Amino acid sequence: MTRGDKLDRYRAKRDLSKSGEPSGGRKVGKGDRFVIQRHKASRLHFDFRLQVEDVLVSWAVPKGPSLDPSDKRLAIHTEDHPLDYAEFEGRIPEGEYGGGTVVVWDAGTYRNLTEKRGKAVPMADAVDHGHVVVWLDGEKLTGGFALSRMGEDEEWLLVKLDDEGADRRRKPAKTQLESVLSGRTNQDFADQ
Ligand code: MN
Repeated sequence: MTRGDKLDRYRAKRDLSKSGEPSGGRKVGKGDRFVIQRHKASRLHFDFRLQVEDVLVSWAVPKGPSLDPSDKRLAIHTEDHPLDYAEFEGRIPEGEYGGGTVVVWDAGTYRNLTEKRGKAVPMADAVDHGHVVVWLDGEKLTGGFALSRMGEDEEWLLVKLDDEGADRRRKPAKTQLESVLSGRTNQDFADQ
């Protein structure tokens, strides 16, 4: 996948008039944002998204992020999402692409720490090159995380760096299920 496709793939997969998801028409304020959405679709996963220019570059992480630097979490690089997707939570109707429930599991800002031979690498280049290092300032997650592409396909690994945000005991992906926006869980949206 190239960075040039922007939102074409996002729109091609969905009937936005039925799904209730954002179309990408609305501009959101400045700043490098990140969001992680807990998405209970046919399979539970966490969508890890980093703002890069005017889209959210996205990975689906089946087990969610870990704070233990010895854990390597599979992260499937998926299509870019519109910026206003960062506030989306609710229920995507069954039968639609990604049908199920979405909560904003964590959100905040990030800093790009990616370097190559001691020189800073811009985010878009880092994604193209298959190696991204970011510092997250979220509510559940803080500290450095590295995303590294494993081969030619879309499979990456998400790994916590060993810094003050690392924690081998706390497992927020298992124990803190609620939205940082609404306090609601996927089950709350499924039940409504
Ligand atoms: Mn998803």
